Amino acid sequence: MLAQLKNKIIVVKCGGAAMVESAQMQEMLEALVVLHQAGVRLVLVHGGGPEITKYCQKLNMPVQFIKGQRVSDAATLELAQMVLFGKTNRSMVTHLNQCGIQAVGLTGQDAACVKAKKWQDQDGTDLGFVGSVEVVDPRLINTLMQAGFLPVVAPIATSSDGQTYNVNGDLMAGAIAGALKAEKLIMLTDVNGYYNDIKDPNSRVPELTQAKIETLLTLGKVEGGMVPKLQACVAALAAGVKAAHLLQGNKLKQFFANEDQQAIGTVIQ
Ligand code: ADP
Ligand code: MG
Repeated sequence: MLAQLKNKIIVVKCGGAAMVESAQMQEMLEALVVLHQAGVRLVLVHGGGPEITKYCQKLNMPVQFIKGQRVSDAATLELAQMVLFGKTNRSMVTHLNQCGIQAVGLTGQDAACVKAKKWQDQDGTDLGFVGSVEVVDPRLINTLMQAGFLPVVAPIATSSDGQTYNVNGDLMAGAIAGALKAEKLIMLTDVNGYYNDIKDPNSRVPELTQAKIETLLTLGKVEGGMVPKLQACVAALAAGVKAAHLLQGNKLKQFFANEDQQAIGTVIQ
């Protein structure tokens, strides 16, 4: 599979959930090195959910998720910014540099490459300073990739009127993949794909379509962090991304070593 991906763009979303375990992180880094050396143009978008929650708890701040998104008042937004860019992003960049990949960390604010707007929930729930992506300007990311750097994006972005928002990492990755017309969007998380029943390890769904996802979302069959993940995949495919994959963080290398795209995780196309 690797030879066909030379010079193609792959956007990898590395979930906070997948980054908690250092063994998973190490496996993921090794896989990214293989892809980078094969000439794949990579963009990494990271989350940081568990880290943000850890600091919220240390500071006695409330932690609340609605449909997989963190409710963010002004203090939570400030903390999310500090943790995501000050800690998680620096750590990812450092790890990649140690592996010989020249990584550059940014948020959507750099050169306003991602502009946000306030998240409008379908049932009118106010999530505070949670944003959705208004528009992606791919020039900065493309420039970095063309020069051989690997952009590492933290999911923070500012609106045209200057308000900064906490954007769900999946939605940020989906929008960036769409704007770059990426070959693939790969969502790395702590579960190996979409499961019909999250409590049943034998219920992995190897393949989903946009239509099937729309139905699952409308019927309210999807829960928690899987909601923005599937929404992001649908948005990316609608914008021209060829395929989206949900994989466990430590399965990236295995995934590219395998010709059968449905053997690991869930493919959406
Ligand atoms: P990340 O940090 O990778 O974005 P999230 O916690 O936001 O991780 O989302 C992944 C979580 O989604 C899984 O750990 C799982 O608990 C949850 N989830 C809910 N429904 C499903 C499902 N049907 N299949 C797989 N995971 C699901
Ligand atoms: Mg998530």
